[in-house]
Amino acid sequence: SKDGGGGAFNTYEPQLHVKAEERRVLEMALRQALEKGELHLEYQPVVAAGTGGLTGFEALLRWTHPELGVVSPAKFVPLAEDARLIVPMGEWVLRSACAEAAQWPHPIRVAVNVSPEQLHNPAFVSVVASALANSGLPAERLELEVTEGVFMREGTGAVQVLERILDLGVRLSLDDFGTGYSSLGYLARTRFSTIKVDRSFVQGASKGQPEPIAIIRAVVALAQSLGMATTAEGVETEQEHAMIQELGCTKVQGYYFGRPLPVAEARALAGRKWGE
Ligand code: C2E
Ligand code: CA
Ligand code: CA
Ligand code: CA
Repeated sequence: SKDGGGGAFNTYEPQLHVKAEERRVLEMALRQALEKGELHLEYQPVVAAGTGGLTGFEALLRWTHPELGVVSPAKFVPLAEDARLIVPMGEWVLRSACAEAAQWPHPIRVAVNVSPEQLHNPAFVSVVASALANSGLPAERLELEVTEGVFMREGTGAVQVLERILDLGVRLSLDDFGTGYSSLGYLARTRFSTIKVDRSFVQGASKGQPEPIAIIRAVVALAQSLGMATTAEGVETEQEHAMIQELGCTKVQGYYFGRPLPVAEARALAGRKWGE
Protein backbone atom coordinates (compact mmCIF):
# COMPACT_ATOMS: atom_id res chain seq x y z
CA SER A 1 0.00 0.00 0.00
CA LYS A 2 1.01 3.60 -0.55
CA ASP A 3 0.95 4.79 3.04
CA GLY A 4 3.94 3.74 5.06
CA GLY A 5 2.06 4.12 8.33
CA GLY A 6 3.59 2.03 11.07
CA GLY A 7 6.48 0.77 8.94
CA ALA A 8 9.94 1.43 10.34
CA PHE A 9 12.18 3.39 7.99
CA ASN A 10 14.62 0.53 7.44
CA THR A 11 11.86 -1.84 6.35
CA TYR A 12 10.00 0.77 4.34
CA GLU A 13 12.92 1.97 2.22
CA PRO A 14 13.87 -1.37 0.63
CA GLN A 15 10.25 -1.67 -0.49
CA LEU A 16 10.49 1.61 -2.31
CA HIS A 17 13.70 0.39 -3.87
CA VAL A 18 12.04 -2.76 -5.14
CA LYS A 19 9.24 -0.70 -6.57
CA ALA A 20 11.67 1.55 -8.44
CA GLU A 21 13.52 -1.50 -9.74
CA GLU A 22 10.31 -3.19 -10.86
CA ARG A 23 9.31 0.03 -12.52
CA ARG A 24 12.57 0.26 -14.46
CA VAL A 25 12.33 -3.33 -15.66
CA LEU A 26 8.73 -2.81 -16.73
CA GLU A 27 9.66 0.40 -18.52
CA MET A 28 12.40 -1.33 -20.50
CA ALA A 29 10.05 -4.17 -21.39
CA LEU A 30 7.45 -1.64 -22.49
CA ARG A 31 9.98 0.07 -24.73
CA GLN A 32 10.61 -3.28 -26.45
CA ALA A 33 6.93 -4.18 -26.59
CA LEU A 34 6.32 -1.52 -29.22
CA GLU A 35 9.08 -2.85 -31.48
CA LYS A 36 8.31 -6.53 -30.91
CA GLY A 37 4.63 -6.12 -31.68
CA GLU A 38 3.42 -7.20 -28.24
CA LEU A 39 0.73 -4.54 -28.26
CA HIS A 40 -2.71 -4.93 -29.71
CA LEU A 41 -6.08 -3.25 -29.50
CA GLU A 42 -9.47 -4.45 -28.36
CA TYR A 43 -12.68 -2.67 -29.28
CA GLN A 44 -15.54 -2.11 -26.85
CA PRO A 45 -19.03 -1.41 -28.26
CA VAL A 46 -20.69 1.96 -27.57
CA VAL A 47 -24.46 1.92 -28.06
CA ALA A 48 -27.35 4.39 -28.17
CA ALA A 49 -29.12 4.45 -24.81
CA GLY A 50 -32.61 4.38 -26.29
CA THR A 51 -32.37 1.69 -28.94
CA GLY A 52 -29.23 -0.20 -27.95
CA GLY A 53 -28.04 0.28 -31.54
CA LEU A 54 -24.29 0.21 -32.10
CA THR A 55 -22.78 3.66 -32.68
CA GLY A 56 -19.11 2.77 -32.48
CA PHE A 57 -16.26 1.22 -30.54
CA GLU A 58 -13.63 2.49 -28.12
CA ALA A 59 -10.13 1.21 -28.89
CA LEU A 60 -8.41 -0.08 -25.76
CA LEU A 61 -4.72 -0.89 -25.62
CA ARG A 62 -3.51 -4.34 -24.57
CA TRP A 63 0.01 -5.55 -23.83
CA THR A 64 0.79 -9.26 -23.77
CA HIS A 65 4.19 -9.68 -22.13
CA PRO A 66 5.87 -13.05 -22.87
CA GLU A 67 6.33 -13.79 -19.15
CA LEU A 68 4.01 -11.43 -17.31
CA GLY A 69 1.02 -12.23 -19.51
CA VAL A 70 -1.55 -9.53 -20.19
CA VAL A 71 -0.60 -6.29 -18.42
CA SER A 72 -3.43 -3.84 -17.71
CA PRO A 73 -3.30 -0.43 -19.42
CA ALA A 74 -4.23 1.06 -16.03
CA LYS A 75 -0.76 -0.08 -14.98
CA PHE A 76 1.39 0.53 -18.04
CA VAL A 77 -0.15 3.67 -19.61
CA PRO A 78 0.88 5.89 -16.65
CA LEU A 79 4.37 4.36 -16.89
CA ALA A 80 4.49 5.05 -20.64
CA GLU A 81 3.41 8.63 -19.91
CA ASP A 82 6.22 9.16 -17.41
CA ALA A 83 8.79 7.69 -19.78
CA ARG A 84 7.36 9.76 -22.70
CA LEU A 85 6.87 6.46 -24.51
CA ILE A 86 3.23 7.39 -24.82
CA VAL A 87 4.00 9.57 -27.85
CA PRO A 88 5.19 6.78 -30.20
CA MET A 89 2.83 4.31 -28.52
CA GLY A 90 -0.15 6.63 -28.94
CA GLU A 91 0.76 7.14 -32.59
CA TRP A 92 0.74 3.37 -33.10
CA VAL A 93 -2.68 3.15 -31.41
CA LEU A 94 -4.10 5.91 -33.57
CA ARG A 95 -2.82 4.50 -36.87
CA SER A 96 -3.95 0.95 -36.00
CA ALA A 97 -7.40 2.05 -34.85
CA CYS A 98 -7.99 4.19 -37.96
CA ALA A 99 -6.87 1.36 -40.26
CA GLU A 100 -9.24 -1.05 -38.52
CA ALA A 101 -12.20 1.34 -38.37
CA ALA A 102 -11.87 2.02 -42.10
CA GLN A 103 -13.04 -1.62 -42.54
CA TRP A 104 -16.27 -1.01 -40.62
CA PRO A 105 -19.44 0.13 -42.33
CA HIS A 106 -20.42 3.78 -42.25
CA PRO A 107 -21.32 5.40 -39.79
CA ILE A 108 -19.67 3.22 -37.08
CA ARG A 109 -17.09 5.34 -35.27
CA VAL A 110 -13.88 4.59 -33.45
CA ALA A 111 -12.87 6.38 -30.25
CA VAL A 112 -9.17 6.58 -29.42
CA ASN A 113 -7.74 7.57 -26.03
CA VAL A 114 -5.19 10.37 -26.19
CA SER A 115 -2.84 11.31 -23.35
CA PRO A 116 -2.17 14.94 -22.41
CA GLU A 117 1.47 14.39 -23.33
CA GLN A 118 0.51 13.75 -26.96
CA LEU A 119 -1.53 16.94 -27.14
CA HIS A 120 1.27 19.12 -25.84
CA ASN A 121 3.09 18.41 -29.09
CA PRO A 122 1.92 20.47 -32.14
CA ALA A 123 3.16 17.68 -34.46
CA PHE A 124 0.25 15.57 -33.21
CA VAL A 125 -2.09 17.38 -35.62
CA SER A 126 -0.19 16.07 -38.64
CA VAL A 127 -0.07 12.59 -37.08
CA VAL A 128 -3.88 12.61 -36.92
CA ALA A 129 -4.15 13.95 -40.47
CA SER A 130 -1.83 11.29 -41.84
CA ALA A 131 -3.53 8.48 -39.88
CA LEU A 132 -6.78 9.51 -41.59
CA ALA A 133 -5.21 9.92 -45.04
CA ASN A 134 -3.36 6.59 -44.91
CA SER A 135 -6.35 4.61 -43.69
CA GLY A 136 -9.01 6.37 -45.75
CA LEU A 137 -11.17 6.72 -42.63
CA PRO A 138 -13.45 9.78 -42.91
CA ALA A 139 -12.55 12.32 -40.20
CA GLU A 140 -16.08 12.36 -38.78
CA ARG A 141 -15.77 8.68 -37.91
CA LEU A 142 -12.79 9.34 -35.62
CA GLU A 143 -13.34 10.51 -32.07
CA LEU A 144 -10.48 11.39 -29.74
CA GLU A 145 -11.02 10.93 -26.01
CA VAL A 146 -9.18 13.44 -23.85
CA THR A 147 -9.24 13.93 -20.11
CA GLU A 148 -9.54 17.06 -18.01
CA GLY A 149 -5.83 16.77 -17.26
CA VAL A 150 -5.14 18.34 -20.66
CA PHE A 151 -6.46 21.67 -19.43
CA MET A 152 -4.49 21.75 -16.21
CA ARG A 153 -1.20 22.96 -17.62
CA GLU A 154 -1.64 26.39 -19.18
CA GLY A 155 0.45 27.56 -22.07
CA THR A 156 1.31 24.13 -23.42
CA GLY A 157 -0.59 24.74 -26.63
CA ALA A 158 -2.90 21.77 -26.07
CA VAL A 159 -6.02 23.89 -26.60
CA GLN A 160 -4.69 25.10 -29.96
CA VAL A 161 -3.83 21.52 -30.93
CA LEU A 162 -7.42 20.50 -30.10
CA GLU A 163 -8.77 23.38 -32.20
CA ARG A 164 -6.74 22.27 -35.21
CA ILE A 165 -7.89 18.68 -34.74
CA LEU A 166 -11.51 19.89 -34.70
CA ASP A 167 -10.77 21.75 -37.94
CA LEU A 168 -9.88 18.40 -39.52
CA GLY A 169 -13.48 17.31 -38.81
CA VAL A 170 -12.49 14.90 -36.03
CA ARG A 171 -14.75 14.70 -32.96
CA LEU A 172 -13.64 15.14 -29.38
CA SER A 173 -15.03 13.58 -26.25
CA LEU A 174 -14.25 14.48 -22.66
CA ASP A 175 -13.31 11.29 -20.83
CA ASP A 176 -13.67 10.47 -17.11
CA PHE A 177 -15.56 13.70 -16.57
CA GLY A 178 -15.70 14.88 -12.98
CA THR A 179 -12.88 12.70 -11.69
CA GLY A 180 -10.04 15.21 -12.12
CA TYR A 181 -9.48 18.71 -10.83
CA SER A 182 -11.41 20.61 -13.41
CA SER A 183 -12.82 23.99 -14.15
CA LEU A 184 -15.85 24.24 -16.38
CA GLY A 185 -14.38 27.12 -18.38
CA TYR A 186 -12.86 24.97 -21.08
CA LEU A 187 -16.21 23.33 -21.81
CA ALA A 188 -17.33 26.68 -23.17
CA ARG A 189 -14.18 27.12 -25.22
CA THR A 190 -13.56 23.67 -26.73
CA ARG A 191 -16.20 22.00 -28.86
CA PHE A 192 -16.70 18.51 -27.42
CA SER A 193 -19.25 16.19 -29.04
CA THR A 194 -19.62 14.00 -25.98
CA ILE A 195 -19.01 14.06 -22.24
CA LYS A 196 -18.22 10.63 -20.80
CA VAL A 197 -19.61 10.05 -17.32
CA ASP A 198 -17.13 8.02 -15.29
CA ARG A 199 -18.07 4.55 -14.04
CA SER A 200 -17.67 5.64 -10.42
CA PHE A 201 -20.78 7.86 -10.78
CA VAL A 202 -22.74 5.10 -12.53
CA GLN A 203 -21.83 2.66 -9.75
CA GLY A 204 -22.75 5.09 -6.99
CA ALA A 205 -26.02 6.00 -8.66
CA SER A 206 -27.00 2.36 -9.10
CA LYS A 207 -26.56 1.90 -5.34
CA GLY A 208 -29.10 4.68 -4.90
CA GLN A 209 -26.60 7.21 -3.53
CA PRO A 210 -28.12 10.69 -3.96
CA GLU A 211 -24.86 12.56 -4.71
CA PRO A 212 -23.77 10.64 -7.83
CA ILE A 213 -27.37 10.74 -9.08
CA ALA A 214 -27.41 14.52 -8.66
CA ILE A 215 -24.05 14.80 -10.43
CA ILE A 216 -25.17 12.71 -13.41
CA ARG A 217 -28.36 14.80 -13.69
CA ALA A 218 -26.30 17.99 -13.64
CA VAL A 219 -23.81 16.70 -16.22
CA VAL A 220 -26.64 15.60 -18.53
CA ALA A 221 -28.31 19.01 -18.22
CA LEU A 222 -25.01 20.80 -18.81
CA ALA A 223 -24.24 18.65 -21.87
CA GLN A 224 -27.74 19.15 -23.26
CA SER A 225 -27.54 22.91 -22.95
CA LEU A 226 -24.15 22.88 -24.69
CA GLY A 227 -25.42 20.58 -27.46
CA MET A 228 -23.26 17.66 -26.39
CA ALA A 229 -24.06 13.96 -25.99
CA THR A 230 -23.37 11.99 -22.81
CA THR A 231 -21.96 8.47 -22.59
CA ALA A 232 -22.37 6.53 -19.35
CA GLU A 233 -19.33 4.34 -18.75
CA GLY A 234 -19.18 0.96 -17.03
CA VAL A 235 -22.83 -0.02 -17.28
CA GLU A 236 -22.85 -3.64 -16.12
CA THR A 237 -26.47 -4.56 -15.48
CA GLU A 238 -29.93 -4.12 -16.95
CA GLN A 239 -30.90 -2.14 -13.87
CA GLU A 240 -27.98 0.26 -14.36
CA HIS A 241 -28.97 0.69 -17.99
CA ALA A 242 -32.55 1.53 -17.01
CA MET A 243 -31.33 4.07 -14.46
CA ILE A 244 -28.91 5.67 -16.92
CA GLN A 245 -31.67 5.97 -19.50
CA GLU A 246 -33.95 7.58 -16.95
CA LEU A 247 -31.22 10.07 -16.09
CA GLY A 248 -31.05 10.98 -19.78
CA CYS A 249 -27.61 9.79 -20.88
CA THR A 250 -27.61 9.41 -24.66
CA LYS A 251 -25.04 6.65 -25.08
CA VAL A 252 -23.91 3.69 -23.01
CA GLN A 253 -20.79 1.61 -22.76
CA GLY A 254 -20.14 -1.31 -20.42
CA TYR A 255 -20.02 -5.04 -19.90
CA TYR A 256 -23.82 -5.24 -20.10
CA PHE A 257 -23.61 -4.39 -23.82
CA GLY A 258 -20.22 -5.87 -24.52
CA ARG A 259 -16.72 -6.32 -23.21
CA PRO A 260 -13.73 -5.11 -25.18
CA LEU A 261 -13.58 -7.45 -28.18
CA PRO A 262 -10.78 -8.86 -30.35
CA VAL A 263 -10.51 -7.21 -33.78
CA ALA A 264 -12.31 -9.98 -35.69
CA GLU A 265 -15.29 -10.02 -33.31
CA ALA A 266 -15.65 -6.25 -33.42
CA ARG A 267 -15.55 -6.35 -37.18
CA ALA A 268 -18.22 -9.06 -37.30
CA LEU A 269 -20.43 -7.10 -34.88
CA ALA A 270 -20.05 -3.90 -36.91
CA GLY A 271 -21.03 -5.76 -40.08
CA ARG A 272 -23.95 -7.60 -38.47
CA LYS A 273 -25.49 -4.44 -37.05
CA TRP A 274 -25.58 -2.63 -40.31
CA GLY A 275 -26.01 -5.46 -42.76
CA GLU A 276 -24.62 -5.75 -46.24
P1 C2E B 1 -10.95 4.49 -19.92
O1 C2E B 1 -10.57 5.30 -21.10
O2 C2E B 1 -11.85 5.11 -18.92
O3 C2E B 1 -11.56 3.14 -20.53
C1 C2E B 1 -12.63 2.45 -19.94
C2 C2E B 1 -12.13 1.30 -19.08
O4 C2E B 1 -13.24 0.71 -18.41
C3 C2E B 1 -11.49 0.18 -19.89
O5 C2E B 1 -10.48 -0.41 -19.07
C4 C2E B 1 -12.66 -0.78 -20.07
O6 C2E B 1 -12.24 -2.11 -20.36
C5 C2E B 1 -13.30 -0.66 -18.72
N1 C2E B 1 -14.73 -1.02 -18.75
C6 C2E B 1 -15.61 -0.88 -19.74
N2 C2E B 1 -16.84 -1.27 -19.37
C7 C2E B 1 -16.74 -1.70 -18.11
C8 C2E B 1 -17.68 -2.26 -17.17
O7 C2E B 1 -18.86 -2.43 -17.44
N3 C2E B 1 -17.19 -2.57 -15.94
C9 C2E B 1 -15.87 -2.41 -15.60
N4 C2E B 1 -15.49 -2.77 -14.38
N5 C2E B 1 -14.97 -1.87 -16.47
C10 C2E B 1 -15.40 -1.54 -17.69
P2 C2E B 1 -9.05 -0.78 -19.63
O8 C2E B 1 -9.18 -1.33 -21.03
O9 C2E B 1 -8.38 -1.62 -18.60
O10 C2E B 1 -8.33 0.62 -19.75
C11 C2E B 1 -8.02 1.36 -18.60
C12 C2E B 1 -7.58 2.75 -18.95
O11 C2E B 1 -6.33 2.73 -19.65
C13 C2E B 1 -8.53 3.50 -19.86
O12 C2E B 1 -9.62 3.99 -19.12
C14 C2E B 1 -7.61 4.58 -20.39
O13 C2E B 1 -7.48 5.61 -19.44
C15 C2E B 1 -6.30 3.85 -20.49
N6 C2E B 1 -6.08 3.42 -21.89
C16 C2E B 1 -6.51 2.31 -22.53
N7 C2E B 1 -6.10 2.30 -23.81
C17 C2E B 1 -5.41 3.44 -24.00
C18 C2E B 1 -4.74 4.03 -25.12
O14 C2E B 1 -4.72 3.50 -26.25
N8 C2E B 1 -4.11 5.24 -24.92
C19 C2E B 1 -4.14 5.86 -23.70
N9 C2E B 1 -3.50 7.05 -23.58
N10 C2E B 1 -4.77 5.35 -22.64
C20 C2E B 1 -5.40 4.16 -22.77
CA1 CA C 1 -11.64 6.36 -22.67
CA1 CA D 1 -13.38 6.75 -19.21
CA1 CA E 1 -11.49 5.73 -16.46
